[in-house]
Amino acid sequence: MIVPLANEIVLSMPMFTNHSIEHIDALWDTASIICGDEFKINPAEAFVLGGAFLMHDLGMGLCAYPDGAEQVRSDPAYAGLLALAEERISELEPATDAEPRAKRAGEEALVEVLRRRHAERAPELLRTSFMASDGSPFYLLPDLGFRLDYGAMIGEIAESHWWDVANLREFDGPKGSRPDHPREWTVDKLKIACILRLADAAHIDSRRAPSLVRAFRRPSGTAAEHWSFQERLMRPYVQDDRLVYTSTRRFTSNEAAAWWLAYDTIKMVDTELRRVDALFADLGRPRFPVRSVAGADAPDRLADYLQTDRWHPVDARIRVTDVGKVVGNLGGDKLYGNRPDIALRELVANASDATLARASREATTPGTVTIGLSQEPAGWLLTVIDQGIGMRPETLVSSLTDFGNSRWRSADTLTEHPELAGFEPIGRFGIGFFAVFMVADEVSVYSLALDEAPRDTHVLEFTDGLAVRPLLRTAEPNERLRSAGTVVTARLRVDPRSVKGLFRNNSRRLSHTEHLHALVLPLCALSRVNIDVQGPDDARPVRLVSADDWVVISETELFDRVYRQPDDSYKRRLALDVFCKRFLQRARLLRDEDGRIAGRAMMASNWEALEGSGWYMNCVSHIYVGGLRSGTLQQSVGVFSGRPLTADRLRAFPDIDAERLTAWAESQAELLDETDPFSREILGGVARALGAKAERLPCALTATGELDVPAIHQWVAGRDLIFLVGESFHVHFRDRNKPWFISFGHQELLFSENCLILSLYPDWQFPEEVLPSPKDDRFADIELAETGWNSRAWWYDSGNFGSVGLVVRAISEEWGIDIPELLELMEPLHLEDGRDARCDVPVVGGGSEKVEMIRLQRPQPINGL
Ligand code: ADP
Repeated sequence: MIVPLANEIVLSMPMFTNHSIEHIDALWDTASIICGDEFKINPAEAFVLGGAFLMHDLGMGLCAYPDGAEQVRSDPAYAGLLALAEERISELEPATDAEPRAKRAGEEALVEVLRRRHAERAPELLRTSFMASDGSPFYLLPDLGFRLDYGAMIGEIAESHWWDVANLREFDGPKGSRPDHPREWTVDKLKIACILRLADAAHIDSRRAPSLVRAFRRPSGTAAEHWSFQERLMRPYVQDDRLVYTSTRRFTSNEAAAWWLAYDTIKMVDTELRRVDALFADLGRPRFPVRSVAGADAPDRLADYLQTDRWHPVDARIRVTDVGKVVGNLGGDKLYGNRPDIALRELVANASDATLARASREATTPGTVTIGLSQEPAGWLLTVIDQGIGMRPETLVSSLTDFGNSRWRSADTLTEHPELAGFEPIGRFGIGFFAVFMVADEVSVYSLALDEAPRDTHVLEFTDGLAVRPLLRTAEPNERLRSAGTVVTARLRVDPRSVKGLFRNNSRRLSHTEHLHALVLPLCALSRVNIDVQGPDDARPVRLVSADDWVVISETELFDRVYRQPDDSYKRRLALDVFCKRFLQRARLLRDEDGRIAGRAMMASNWEALEGSGWYMNCVSHIYVGGLRSGTLQQSVGVFSGRPLTADRLRAFPDIDAERLTAWAESQAELLDETDPFSREILGGVARALGAKAERLPCALTATGELDVPAIHQWVAGRDLIFLVGESFHVHFRDRNKPWFISFGHQELLFSENCLILSLYPDWQFPEEVLPSPKDDRFADIELAETGWNSRAWWYDSGNFGSVGLVVRAISEEWGIDIPELLELMEPLHLEDGRDARCDVPVVGGGSEKVEMIRLQRPQPINGL
C-alpha cells in the first residue's frame, strides 16, 4: 500500500535522490550493518521500526496531501518561501521573464514546503483515511488493533528522524507491551528512533545536508553532477567501531565537486553516529557497535577511502580562524569610523524592525521603542527596549552571533512568521548588532518571543565584547519580560558626555539627559515607530517622536528636529534662522510612485546663510533609512526617506524614482528669483546635477553678469568667437550683482566680453549605482591621447550635462553646427607638456595673468562658392 505513495515522491521532487520503496527496503540492510549481530530487537520493535521506515519520508510526496498541490500552497509558510524563491531567481538570473520566473519560484516553494513539513506529516498520514478507486476508505495501517496500539508511536518515531538528537531524550521512558504479546515485547522508542535515523543517514541520500539542497537550486545542469558520487559508493562495511565507505573508482579532478559533496555527507553521517553514541553513553544504555565514519575527520584521510585521481583534496574553502577579530575589524569602528552614535542607531534599527514586524503580523499600529540612559555604580548603562516579536533562545543565539546573516529574509523566519513575507526591514546586512561593541564590552540581550510565557525569557550575555563566548541563560524571575519583546543593555565603556563617548560632545552646558534627547531626536526624526527617551533626569519616558509624524508636523518643527541642537552657537542659530525661514517658503513634498510622502526638502546654497550670520554654513539634507538617519544630500535642506547604498548605511539615497527627484529640482529652480546671484549660480549647478534643466538659473557668467538658458542663446547668436573658461579662480559678486573674478594670486581678472565663465566638469548628484551620469555614446570608443586635453573624451563623460552641457548645446544650435563638428572646433589653450598656450588676461592695475581656456571660432562661410 505504501509502494505507490513512495514511488510518487520522485514525481513531486525529481531533484532529490531515490525515496522509492527500494530506499525503504535498503534501510533494513543499513540498519543491520549499524546494529551488528549483538544488538537485539524484539518482534514488536521490528514492527514499529518497519512502520517508521515506511512512513518517515512519505510526507515528501504530493500524494500525502489529499487536496494535492493546493493544500501545500495553503501552508502558511508557502507565501514567504515563494517570495524568497522569486528574489533568488531574479538575483541569479535577472534576464528571466516574469512568467517563467513565477512558475519556477512556485515549484521551488512547493518543494521547500514539502521538504520542511514532510516529517511532521508522518503521524497525520497514519491517521488519514484514503479513498480507493471503488470509493471505499482505507488506512495505510489497515489493522485497527495495530493502528490503535502502534500507529501513533510509528508516526512519532518517523517524525523524529528530522529532529535534533538532543530532542530524542523524551523517548527515553517506560515502555509497555500489548496484552496479547509476551511481556518482554516492549518497544524501546529511543532505540528504534535512533536505528531509524542512523540507518537513514548512513544510507546516504539527499535530504539532510543543506549543501545538497542548495546544490539543486543552482541553475540547472549542476545538480546531476553533484549527485554522481552516490553511484560510486559501495555498500559500507564495519571495521572495529567505524563505518567504512569506499568508492568503485577514483574521482578525477573534474569530479572534485562530487567528491566534496561526498565528504560533507560523510561528515554529516559521522556527526549523527557520534551524537547518538554520546546520548546512549549519557543515558547508560548499551551502545551501538558503530560510532563514527572512517576518514570523516579530514579530507586527506577520507581520500584513503574515496580515492582521488592525481589531485589532493585540500580543504581550501574560505575559513575564518579568528572570528572575533574579523567581526571586530569589520563590524565596529573599522566599519563605521569613530561614530559611537551608530551603535545606538543600529540597536534602534533592530528594535524598530522587530516592532514593525509584530505590527505587521498582528495588523495593529506599531508600538514604542524606548531608549534609556542611567548611571549605575558600575558605569553608564544604555538600554533599548522594544515590544517587538522577540526571539526564541535558539534565534537569540543564531541571530546575534552570526555576523553577516540577517534573519528577517531567511526561510526559517518566513516559515515561523509567514505574515512577514511583505515586510521590509531596515536590517538587511546582518552586521548592525555588532556596532554595539564600539561603545560597550558588557552587553546583555533579554528577549521573549511572541506567544511565549514570561518564564521563557532568555538572556544572551556578552561579558567581554567579542573576546569571550557569549552566555545564554534563562532569565531570573526579576529579569523576566512581562510581554514579548527585547531589551538590550550595554554598559558604556566611557562617559557618554566625553569626546569619545556616545554623544561625541563633552559640553558641560548640557546635562546627560539633554544630550541624550539632542542625540536621539535628529537620529530618529523619521521613525516609523514611537520613540521614547528616558535620561537620568527624566522621571518617566518622554515621547520624542511619534510613529511617522514627520509627514504631518509643521515645517518649523521638522526643521528644528533635524537641525537645531540645544548648544548651537549664536552665529549658527542666526544662520539656521535664515534657512528655517526659507524652508517655510521653499520646502516641497516629494512623493513616491505610490503617492507616499518620501521627502520634505528644498535646494539651498551654503551661501544663503551669509545674510544672517555673515558666514557660510554647510547645508545638507538628511536621508533616513527606515526612519533613522543615514546619508546626506549636499546643497539642500530637509529630509528624505531613503535606501542604503552601503552596508554601513553611511551612504544612502532618496528612495524615489530619479525622474521625481529631477522634477523636484526643476520646481525648486523656479522658486529662486529672490536669492542672491552667487547662490543662484551654485543652485543652477545643483539642479542640473539632479538632471533638471533649470532654464531660469544661470548656466554661465560673463564679465558683466549671469546668463540663464534663454540669455545664453541670445549671447551666442551674436558672436563668432567664444572662450570657455573653467573656474580656476575665486568668483564673487559686487555692485548690484556684477561678477568679480579674483585669481589665486589675488589679482582682479578682467575677462573680455567673449569669455564664458563656467564649470567645465559639472557635478552629478546621483550615485553611479542609482543613475549613472549621462554619457554621449557616440564617443564611447574614443581613444584617449597620451597627453593633452581631448574635446571628444571630455564631452563623452563630463561635458555633455550640467550647465556646460546646456552652453555647448546652445552654441551648437545657434551656430547650426552638430556637436561632433563643434567638438572638432574646440581648441584648448592649456599649459601642456612643452607648450604654454594659456591666454593672457589683463588684471586691474596693469599686467596680466595666464588663464586656461577653450577657444571656439565659428568657421566663416566661404563667399561665392
Ligand atoms: P540586521 O539587523 O541587519 O539583520 P543584526 O546583526 O543587527 O543584523 O541582527 C541580526 C538579526 O537579529 C536580525 O536580522 C533580527 O532578526 C535579530 N534581531 C536583532 N535585534 C532584534 C530585536 N530587538 N528583536 C527581534 N529580533 C532582533
